Amino acid sequence: MMSKCTICDEQAAEYFVKGTPSGYCKECALDTFADLDMLVKAEQNARALQEHLDLDTNDEDPE
Ligand SMILES: [Zn+2]
Repeated sequence: MMSKCTICDEQAAEYFVKGTPSGYCKECALDTFADLDMLVKAEQNARALQEHLDLDTNDEDPE
């Protein structure tokens, strides 16, 4: 399932601020950040979010 761009709400969100659910299409990402280096593609972000969840789960470990 593709999420829509947070800004224009029309195009598919391709770029994400790593570890957040906020996605932007390429044009809005460039308008907002002027640079795509700090952003990750949707696929990479899904993995980052999953890793973040895994880390949260590990925090429950009493060790
Ligand atoms: Zn957009």
